[in-house]
Amino acid sequence: MKIEMFNVGWLSSSAAIWRQGEDAEQRIRMPIPAYLIETDRERILIDTGLNPAAVADPGGFYGRPDIFAPFALELECSIGEQVDLSTLTRVVLTHLHFDHAGGLSQLPRSVPIVIQRREWEAGQDAKAVARNFLHPRDYVLDQQRIVLIDGDHDLLGDGSLELLLTPGHTPGHQSVRVGADLVLGVDVAHFATTLDDHRFPMFADDFAAQARSAESLRKLRDEGAQVLPGHDPDVLRPGPVASAPG
Ligand SMILES: [Zn+2]
Repeated sequence: MKIEMFNVGWLSSSAAIWRQGEDAEQRIRMPIPAYLIETDRERILIDTGLNPAAVADPGGFYGRPDIFAPFALELECSIGEQVDLSTLTRVVLTHLHFDHAGGLSQLPRSVPIVIQRREWEAGQDAKAVARNFLHPRDYVLDQQRIVLIDGDHDLLGDGSLELLLTPGHTPGHQSVRVGADLVLGVDVAHFATTLDDHRFPMFADDFAAQARSAESLRKLRDEGAQVLPGHDPDVLRPGPVASAPG
């Protein structure tokens, strides 16, 4: 199994938004990752990054020019410019935030999208949409291509790739375990240290659930797995992801 990380945007803002206790005046620039997992039979994309059309013209795309007001977004190369999307066999969406779901519009319409049922349902619920800063325009998709799963899920049926329900950041956030040694934790922990210090972003769907999700990933890390954080500029580097030995 080969796994590679791509940079699909940058998000800059006050650091205090993403790590409680930071000085509000302090700025941070965070990478936005997507991952391609290749097996003998499959090419699976994990998340899709920013939408070039939305970054270039949020007013035109969403009808709300101020939608990204707290942030400065940069997109050097969209996912479609870095990965041949025509040969993907599936896409796993970890959650519906714009920095993960934004690139969906670039995908061929035939590719199935695998997402937790409770995330998808929250995305159709006005209150949950508002509470979680979701933008439904990011995930306008044919119902037929949505594959809804409930809880932890053995994606390939051989135990090699498992989707882990890790709610809290959003209602149905999921992480991805690749073999025994690597977990894409995604936004359970924006920074590597978040697994231990629980200094989560200032917003969450459910902080208690996020703390439990962080605890479950911390356990996997303590048992020897490498757990990649969601947006840690000191950890995330584009290129092949080597899983920890053992
Ligand atoms: Zn994110």
